[in-house]
Amino acid sequence: MAKASLVFGVTYHGSTDIAATGLDNVYGKHISAGKLREQLTWLARRFRIMTINQILEHSRKGTLPAKALFIAFHDGYRGNYQTAFPILKELGVQVDFFIPTAFIGTERRFWVDILDAALKYTSRPSLTLTSEDGETTIALQNETLRMQAAQKLRNRVKALPEIAFEVEFKRILKGLGWENPQDVPSLGDHAACLDWDQVREMTQTGMSFGSHTHSHMICAPQKEAIAREEMAKSKALIEQETGQPCLNFCYPNGSFPYSGNEATDRLAKAVGYHSALYMIHAPNLIHPGTFRLTGAAMGDDTSRDQLARSVSRLRYFWRRFRGNKIWLWEKDSL
Ligand SMILES: [Zn+2]
Repeated sequence: MAKASLVFGVTYHGSTDIAATGLDNVYGKHISAGKLREQLTWLARRFRIMTINQILEHSRKGTLPAKALFIAFHDGYRGNYQTAFPILKELGVQVDFFIPTAFIGTERRFWVDILDAALKYTSRPSLTLTSEDGETTIALQNETLRMQAAQKLRNRVKALPEIAFEVEFKRILKGLGWENPQDVPSLGDHAACLDWDQVREMTQTGMSFGSHTHSHMICAPQKEAIAREEMAKSKALIEQETGQPCLNFCYPNGSFPYSGNEATDRLAKAVGYHSALYMIHAPNLIHPGTFRLTGAAMGDDTSRDQLARSVSRLRYFWRRFRGNKIWLWEKDSL
């Protein structure tokens, strides 16, 4: 087996110039400019931040330096252009952006963002939902209750198959006072998606764009032909729009084996990708045969100390599993 090198991966989603809290920023998914600058500066002092393509290329040539780290921004939020991009340029850091191509250049929104906005702006004091198990009433009188509702409603719909999801999601919006998803106000410009001009401008400074499927689809539960189409279409679009090869793939939701698994990894490889990224808190053992990658999720609710602890946890994993042939990610990518 070729020599494997330890590489950490860090994952962000959106970023914003205005400090957003509550329903504007559930799970702290839009990191504020100040925190992002602080975290990136901290990481840049300790690691060699490189794009995934650079890391894999170095690994193939046997020139991968110690302490390599990649940073991935998921979802293609416009705040990544408005807030993160200037900071990345200022720090001279090149990162990977993973975009769902059906959203790029449109005002299309992710269902979780529509849900959070629907809860933020609703005038209803409660939401009553019926199912086979009976009637549930969710109280919405204050911000804390609405935040709890955001979580409950995510759990209620996220695993539903497509048609059942559409029906239930519409029912929820109706219960909150909106006939259609389009009627729900936006959470702000930073929470909309990038357009292709912004993507091209970022590409020209060395930022790398990979696929996050076409329609932000959870791949593993899909029929193979549908997952393949999502992977191939997004790859072709990114290549056509940027003029650069799109070599890396990132699973929406990012969990194993719910979002991606051995079968979807094989599919991504067959479509022409060089790697598939999961959102899991584990270090990467990079060698010339590596396909599966992991990135640890960070957000606006991650403090600098937590980031430091998170990195030492990755180091702990590394020491613990070093040389262990049954290490999950290593075994599966050989
Ligand atoms: Zn995503």
